[in-house]
Parts: sequence; C-alpha cells; structure tokens
Amino acid sequence: MAPQTDLVNLFALDNSYARLAERFFSRVKPTSVAAPRLIRLNEKLAWQLGLAPDALVRPEGIEILSGNRVPENAEPIAMAYAGHQFGNFVPQLGDGRAILLGEIIDRDGRRRDIQLKGAGRTPYSRGGDGRAALGPVLREYLVSEAMAALGTPTTRALAAVTTGDTVWRESPLPGAIFVRVASSHIRVGTFQFFAARGDVDGIRILADHVIGRHYQHCAGVPNRYRALLDAIIKRQAELVAKWLLVGFIHGVMNTDNMSVAGETIDYGPCAFMDAYHPEMVYSSIDRKGRYAFGNQPRIAQWNLARLAETLLPLLAEDGNAAIKEAEASIEMFSAHFEAAYTAGLRGKLGLLQPHSHDLRLAQDLLDCMSANNADFTLTFRRLCDSAVNPESDDSLRSLFKDPNALDDWMKRWRHRLAEESVTANARRVAMRGANPLFIPRNHLVEEAIVAAVNNGDFQPFETLLAVISAPHEDQPEFGRHALPPRSEQIVTHTFCGT
Ligand code: AMP
Ligand code: MG
Repeated sequence: MAPQTDLVNLFALDNSYARLAERFFSRVKPTSVAAPRLIRLNEKLAWQLGLAPDALVRPEGIEILSGNRVPENAEPIAMAYAGHQFGNFVPQLGDGRAILLGEIIDRDGRRRDIQLKGAGRTPYSRGGDGRAALGPVLREYLVSEAMAALGTPTTRALAAVTTGDTVWRESPLPGAIFVRVASSHIRVGTFQFFAARGDVDGIRILADHVIGRHYQHCAGVPNRYRALLDAIIKRQAELVAKWLLVGFIHGVMNTDNMSVAGETIDYGPCAFMDAYHPEMVYSSIDRKGRYAFGNQPRIAQWNLARLAETLLPLLAEDGNAAIKEAEASIEMFSAHFEAAYTAGLRGKLGLLQPHSHDLRLAQDLLDCMSANNADFTLTFRRLCDSAVNPESDDSLRSLFKDPNALDDWMKRWRHRLAEESVTANARRVAMRGANPLFIPRNHLVEEAIVAAVNNGDFQPFETLLAVISAPHEDQPEFGRHALPPRSEQIVTHTFCGT
C-alpha cells in the first residue's frame, strides 16, 4: 500500500452518532495545547484503522492527535450521559474532558470511535478543567493494551501525547492527551440520560443505533429490545468473567463506566491483583469496597438492572409485562457469568472436558491462595509446569505462605487431570495460553509513571508496554517484570487522577 500523506484522507471519518439527534451530544472543538509531543503511537492499531502511521507521527499528524487541528470531515462532539456513581444517580454527566473526533470504518469493516481524552472543556465539564495528567494517560495506555493482549474486550490505545501545558491537581503535573479507540462510547449511563428525562423517543433511537452497531442479530426478532437487553447482558457477563480470570479490578464500575458494547472502558484507579484476595480493593475512592474484586459480577448485574429499567417502555406495552421481560432477562446474567467463568477456570486448570465438580475444585484452589497470600498470576502460571512435571511443584508451593497447604488439593487436581487423555505437551501449551506470565503489575505501572512524570524518562513505560504485549511468552530477559512486588514495592492504593 502506498503511504497516504493527505491528512484529510488519512482520517476518513464518518460520524453516525453525530447524525442521531442534537440532544444526544454537544458540538465542541478540542482546546488547543501549547506544544504537543508524541509519546507513542500504536502503529499496529493505526494500520488496522486504515491510518498511515508514517503520516501520524509527523507534526501535522501530532497536531490532530493533540486536538490542535481537526480533520476536515470531523464533527467533534462531547456525548451526553448520566450515571449511578457509587450507587447515587447523577442525571447529567457527559464527556467532561473527552471529545469524540468521529468514527472510522476499520480494515475489517468495523466501525470504531476515535476519541481524544483530555482535549479541553466541554458543556459537561462542570467544575473540571477538561484535561488529563500524564500519569493517568500512561496508566490507561498500559492497562488497556495489556487487556487487549490478554484477550479481554477493551477500548484501545491509539496514541498518547504530552501537551506542553501544566495541569493542576494536588500539584502541578505535565498535561497529556490519550487517543482512545472504542467500538463505541455508548454507556449504560447514556440510556439513563434519556430515561431520566422521560425521553422515550431518545431511548428508542439510541437502542436502534446500538442494535445496528453492535447487535445486528437482534434486528430481525419479534421483541428486538428484549433481544438487545439479553445480548448486552450476555456480553457483559462474559466480560466480567474474563476480568476475574486475569485478576483485574476495574475500580469504578459506575453505570457511566460500563460500555453497552461489552468492552472494558474508563481505566481509572484500576489494578491487577498480586496476591489473591476476593475482597481486594485498590481504588482510593472506593472506601466501602463496593467495587472489590469479588463484587464485580454482582455490581455488573446491578448496573444491567439499571439499563433494563431504561428499556421498560420498549419491552412491552403493558407495564407489568415489561417488568417481567426485564426481570427474566436480568436473571440470565448469573447463568451466563457462571458458564463463562467456569469454562475459563477449567482452561486455567488444564481441563478439557467439563465435569460437575470443576468449579468446586477451582474454588478450593482460590480459597487456598487467599488463605496463603499466594500470587494470583504466578500460581496459575506455575501450575502449567506442575501439570506435566511434579518436579516443578516446589516452585509452585513456594508461592504459598504454608507450602504444605496445597498438598491435598494437588492430589485431587492430578487425579482429575488423569481422567483426561491428552498429551502432556498439548496440555501445557493450552494452559500457558490460558495463564499469562506478565500482567501490568501495579508497582511496575507506578515505576513507569514516576519515571515519565518526574524525569521525562519514558523507557520504563516502553519496556513495560513491550513486555505486557506478549503476556503469555516467557521473555526471560524480563524476568523482573514477572515477579510480585517485594514488600516495600507493594502498591496499596491506585488513584483516578482526574
Ligand atoms: P470518570 O470518573 O473519569 O469516569 O469521570 C466521571 C465524570 O467526570 C465524567 O463525566 C467525566 O467527563 C468527568 N470528568 C472527569 N475528569 C474531568 C476533568 N478533568 N474535567 C472535566 N470533567 C471531568
Ligand atoms: Mg467515566
């Protein structure tokens, strides 16, 4: 392919959301920044979007990535939404510091949003400055790309730039902009925005848009909105199961931070667990542990019940009948979640055939890990070796406070493995694909942020990004990045930094 150089062609934007209805958004241009500099462009993703990486890294490209120039066919908007924040309903939130540049059809024919996060004030900024600080931008870049590499549906990082401006939080910090790509930025809270205003037409327009964009199979069925609700619930249940299988804690599962496309969105005070504890909380703003690791399925279901409420007027003409439809749909969350979670755990344990006691077996391992402060990621990774060679057990056992605590469980597990006829090597390969070695550990993310913010040194960020982009490979030269934090390295709190 000949490199495209014309930046107008470079961003062949098509803006279906901006065509829906004016009350869905505000038209707003990014605010200029002083001196944009590219931190990193995700070249593979740029290519996937049909963008020319070589043009994007030039000054004109960086002007666009920083919001200083808007492509000619862009119709930049800030989207309106509402949301339950920690259980409290706020009827108007909206993109207070993010501006949707527009949509691109990628090389696979998929419509993707391109959004500039930290692009300046919008009508939804309330008291905020519309800006993002460098630290949270680097965190979102690292964690979202790690999630993608781990096979978890997520928004993606297209680029990060520093702005040359200072943003003021508790102290002056370097400003940055995060260029985010998403299947869409439609949230549970987007539906709530219209429901709060009694705007049934708005809900219908939005629901039809979501069907056309994310759930086309619902278009042809008799009760398309019930089908839509079912489909969103299934995708969300599967998403949260994936989070639990990699030890991810979102941290702020407010309804405005839940994408109806089923992608992980809005990485703030998120974290990957080191030692496994189901009640683990890192987020500094989650004082009561509402969004603790093990609460995430329950919270997702609660959020989806809020979505279902917004759809009631579309589910049936009769109010009671609509409630019945909604309840039946919400109830299915648990079955979808359990199916996805159990299948995932089975894979992590190296089991191929389903067996009714598998969940119990996995849960007993998790309980043992929790009682023994065992590292979540490494425990499962080392099981891959133990599955084929009992001589590896010592390195697995060493992860447990009481190395003997696992002995009984190991016997049961080996007994269960022996029921299946599969070659040792095939099992090990399958298990390694289900159990990553590298996650963006909190202390490494912190180290990368501190080096960049305090010293302008982006090398730790680059290294960590490279390592977590191949999370299942051994990468012996980066052994340090696989290790849990030493006691003085443990990060106990993460911050959203908004
Ligand atoms: P978040 O906690 O990042 O999901 O944001 C919650 C709400 O606050 C959203 O409406 C954001 O757009 C808004 N917000 C967060 N940070 C800022 C900021 N620096 N300036 C303006 N609005 C913000
Ligand atoms: Mg948000």
